[in-house]
Amino acid sequence: LVPTAHTPAPSNVIRKKLMGYVGFANLPNQVHRKSVRKGFQFTAMVVGESGLGKSTLINTLFNTTLYPPKEPISPAADRPKTVAIESIGADIEENGVRLHLTVVDTPGFGDFVNNDDSWKPIVENIESRFDSYLEQENRVNRTKIVDNRVHACLYFIQPTGHSLKQLDIEFMRRLHTKVNLIPIIAKADTLTDEEVTEFKERILADIAHHNIHIFQAPTYENEDEETIAEAEEIAGKIPFAVVGSDRLVNTPDGRQVRGRAYPWGVVEVDNEEHCDFVKLRQMLVRTYMEELREYTNDVLYENWRTEKLLSMGVAQDSSVFKEINPAARLQEERVLHEAKLAKMEAEMKMVFLQKVQEKEAKLKQSEEELYARHKEMKDALEKQRADLEDKKRKIESGRPLTPEKSSTTRKKGFLRT
Ligand code: GDP
Repeated sequence: LVPTAHTPAPSNVIRKKLMGYVGFANLPNQVHRKSVRKGFQFTAMVVGESGLGKSTLINTLFNTTLYPPKEPISPAADRPKTVAIESIGADIEENGVRLHLTVVDTPGFGDFVNNDDSWKPIVENIESRFDSYLEQENRVNRTKIVDNRVHACLYFIQPTGHSLKQLDIEFMRRLHTKVNLIPIIAKADTLTDEEVTEFKERILADIAHHNIHIFQAPTYENEDEETIAEAEEIAGKIPFAVVGSDRLVNTPDGRQVRGRAYPWGVVEVDNEEHCDFVKLRQMLVRTYMEELREYTNDVLYENWRTEKLLSMGVAQDSSVFKEINPAARLQEERVLHEAKLAKMEAEMKMVFLQKVQEKEAKLKQSEEELYARHKEMKDALEKQRADLEDKKRKIESGRPLTPEKSSTTRKKGFLRT
């Protein structure tokens, strides 16, 4: 009644009501238990000029001190000359669900006098992670693949209130096909509400103008209203204007909240009226972490993999498989050998046919020549016979053989007399 996983669903699927409980309704629970047992891996990258609050935001997002407080920025001489890539891993657990979180930091990005190539080491890092995944996929034993691919890249935009800088555009243009880009307006508490709204509009216009693809909350058909509303709400907040703080402060009404206290009041991190932090966390962690992982695997990695294999001269996906599978390679060699034999046979047949045709043409030509000669001889003989017949008839009738000759003779005789 129901097609198996291996047979494509026929167009005439019969929908049947079950007479009793079978048990496959428990499948989601099985998947759930298995996933919980295995745990989850997630890698987030943070990019942005130093001091924009990247470490603070990551600590705030995962509610842990992943980043220890930073030393004051050292003099220029001590700074690295290029963008460095550092990653911190942590196992965190919430309600029995384990998450291995890796945060990739990119200190030095945008901190130099010339930042033209700041994106390069980051692209290289993302691609080397894809490389490592591809290498693991191609191993004989690939049951324990560690997924170090970057699933999301939080790009911190300086809260200038103007529009995107050349550095921002260049970075996003170079990376949008390799990673899920999530643009963030850093330190949003330094802008007023109107400034944030206008800044967001300008950023989105710039992003659209440069055809940059940023991660969008996906919507599926037949989705319930609540999910669609949630997706729309999240999409409406991009780029997220966030405030980060891993400290608890007291509000004037006596609550203890994560926020930043100013002489004129408290900015609450977890208050949706104050900033988009909650929506960002919802997108990154609560609702779309799995979508981010899936998009990275199914679209970004897949595109990169196709390009990489094509550039290596592999024409089809199946060839990769054969390279590492001896049985498949033998099969491929046999097919190639058979094709070569068939080609040789076809060539021999063609040469043979050509030779036969040439011989036939020659024979035909000599036959025609013979026929022509025969006809010529026949005509000559026929003419000869006709002449002889004519002579015979004349002799028999007693007339002179050549009337012209006899008349002359007669003429001559007449003159003589
Ligand atoms: P990073 O260099 O980008 O990792 O920045 P840090 O997280 O080390 O933050 C640099 C400074 O900015 C610290 O003094 C933070 O307390 C401060 N900071 C972090 N987040 C915010 C924020 O949302 N608003 C404001 N006003 N300051 C912030």
